[in-house]
Amino acid sequence: GYRSRAAYKLKEIDEELRLVRPGQVVVDLGAAPGAWSQYLRRRFAPKAAGVGGAAVGELNGTIIALDLLDFEPIEGVHFIQGDFEDEAVLRQLEAAVGDRPVDLVVSDMAPNLSGVEITDAARIEALVELAIDFSRQHLKPEGVLVAKVFHGSGYTQLVEAFKKAFKKVKPIKPKASRDRSAETFLVGIGLK
Ligand code: SAM
Repeated sequence: GYRSRAAYKLKEIDEELRLVRPGQVVVDLGAAPGAWSQYLRRRFAPKAAGVGGAAVGELNGTIIALDLLDFEPIEGVHFIQGDFEDEAVLRQLEAAVGDRPVDLVVSDMAPNLSGVEITDAARIEALVELAIDFSRQHLKPEGVLVAKVFHGSGYTQLVEAFKKAFKKVKPIKPKASRDRSAETFLVGIGLK
């Protein structure tokens, strides 16, 4: 099993678009408690998913995970704790990536919501736009960004921001997201 059912959202997106392949460099934003990183870890050592689904094989790929919150370490996952919106933390992340071109950036980041729609929309937008900026700087030309967004105010602007940065933009709503109806994922494929 996984630490969180969130893993099944990434699994569905991956099964539909075939994004994750062994050997890749992947950045996992908003990674706690680590279910997406676990999924990536297993995809990078497919034969090693043995008893209890535990991945024990040699890791073929790079996973760099970031979150405000700490979580139980996953062998082979490079974790950075901090706020993605904090300059110093962003520099730490960039240092971990180094000059390796990134294949895939996945973001399940969700800010703490205030309940005030206009404030929340602005917060989500800022966070996703930062993920787009990071992707523009670090993705391979054919690289991919998957980011959680929310329907409602701000959604159209985020689709536009994705379209500015990526050749192809695809919204996906995994079945595993059905409980939170506003949640959708935008997938940007290939930098412009
Ligand atoms: N994908 C994760 C998994 O599979 O276990 C679940 C992620 S959870 C839905 C959203 C996460 O985003 C939270 O752990 C939260 O701390 C993180 N987050 C929100 N804002 C953030 C920020 N500014 N910087 C880093 N992490 C952030």
